[in-house]
Amino acid sequence: MKNISIWKDIENKETYPSLNENKEVDCLIIGGGITGASCLYHLKDTNLKVMLVEQNEIAMATTGNSTGKLTYLQNDLIDKIRNNFDDKVASLYLKSQIDAITLAKTIINKERIDCDLEEVSSYVYTNNEEEISKLKDLETFLHKNNINTKETIYDKVISKYMFKVNNTYTFHPVKFVSYLLKKTPFPVYEHTSIKKIEKENNHYICYTDKNKIRTKWVIIASHYPYFIMPYLFPIKGYIEKSYLTAARKAKDKISLISYSTPSISIRNYKDYLIYLSNSHSINTNLNDKKHFEELNKKVNDLNLITIYNWSNTDIMTNDSLPYIGTLKNRVLLATGFNTWGLTNGILSGKILSDIVLNKENEYISLFNPNRKSSKQITSSITNIGKNLSGYFNGLLKSEEKHLCPHMYCPLIYNEVENTYDCPCHGSRFNKEGIVINAPANRNIKK
Ligand SMILES: Cc1cc2nc3c(=O)[nH]c(=O)nc-3n(C[C@H](O)[C@H](O)[C@H](O)COP(=O)(O)OP(=O)(O)OC[C@H]3O[C@@H](n4cnc5c(N)ncnc54)[C@H](O)[C@@H]3O)c2cc1C
Repeated sequence: MKNISIWKDIENKETYPSLNENKEVDCLIIGGGITGASCLYHLKDTNLKVMLVEQNEIAMATTGNSTGKLTYLQNDLIDKIRNNFDDKVASLYLKSQIDAITLAKTIINKERIDCDLEEVSSYVYTNNEEEISKLKDLETFLHKNNINTKETIYDKVISKYMFKVNNTYTFHPVKFVSYLLKKTPFPVYEHTSIKKIEKENNHYICYTDKNKIRTKWVIIASHYPYFIMPYLFPIKGYIEKSYLTAARKAKDKISLISYSTPSISIRNYKDYLIYLSNSHSINTNLNDKKHFEELNKKVNDLNLITIYNWSNTDIMTNDSLPYIGTLKNRVLLATGFNTWGLTNGILSGKILSDIVLNKENEYISLFNPNRKSSKQITSSITNIGKNLSGYFNGLLKSEEKHLCPHMYCPLIYNEVENTYDCPCHGSRFNKEGIVINAPANRNIKK
């Protein structure tokens, strides 16, 4: 069995040099996942001097550990947005996801990107009697937004109610990002981590360990933003972790998700079934081995053989909308994708490049990263509790007493993936101590 994601197990991946000189550009993009790559792509036909730096390797963090679905049927997220805001805001969010899928399709076709894009219906289901009415209400909401649904069944999960929608896709996220970067004329640097950003007159100076990059615009596409005190990001959301397997030999063509927690998400890729389960907030429930064993049992019960095992984390925002836009004067940000950052990362590329190019974009105010709401305040208090609980659970479980360089939380060894994982904010380090997931931007000493 391989303890990496199926998407990261590819041959002949493009590599890029690390930065070893000072640079001056118009726009620096920090982070080479789907968000950073999409921003770079949308700035390609301008006169701007743009560059992208990646602290590790391109698309190997959250993007490379995802499920690779492009869908607007996003479990109960739309309903959470309806509750936190109203139907109008939820309709605009829904439209943004449909636009993101259209944008992805257009780019893939125009640039002839070979990323195994496949059109597949998306299914959502519940096996909880009390949720049937909620699911039917979501269906009605979709109808009001001119989306057709069809009641259906899928024999691999027990459900009380299930429906499907069309015009949704699956793809290979690492291939998509790798090919996207090849379509841009700009320099890309791997193993180049930004440690600090300082303002200098009308510019920003972004520091790596050895060099400086002077830039007018900074796009923070680092998944979890680190450098932006006093934005207080740790209280603006919490981190959710899920466990995934790719198991053979599957016959069905499917893209399915449970309506609410505990999440089950399924899709096929060639003759693999990719199966996600055991989602939880990273601050509690820290037994990775147990979660993988439970997951593998589920696919083995379907007579499939586990080939890949991996886990992934994403940032859940207080009000269920991502943070995409201007943080402050020419410093832009895209994060908090609530586990739907393939559509939202692609969309962020368009929104943030439109801001840089001073173009209008109908989603700028929807995703304003400085928005305030009562939900933000109440959830901030819960998040402080979650962070503390992660810290104390980490203290109890951390055997080797390594501390995360981000906020000094005790790291927990994940014996299945051989990583050291932070139970507070989601940083991860490989067994050599090299950082593989933000917010940490330094290695741990081993
Ligand atoms: C289990 C799971 C399944 C998911 N499946 C789906 C799905 O099917 N569909 C969907 O739409 N979404 C999905 N998501 C969500 C999606 O994967 C993420 O939201 C998305 O990949 C985030 O992309 P990103 O580019 O913002 O972040 P990342 O892919 O994490 O990229 C950020 C990059 O920035 C780099 N970086 C960090 N700090 C620095 C620094 N200081 N200097 C330089 N570089 C830095 C990192 O190394 C990293 O490569 C899933 C999430 C989870 C947890």
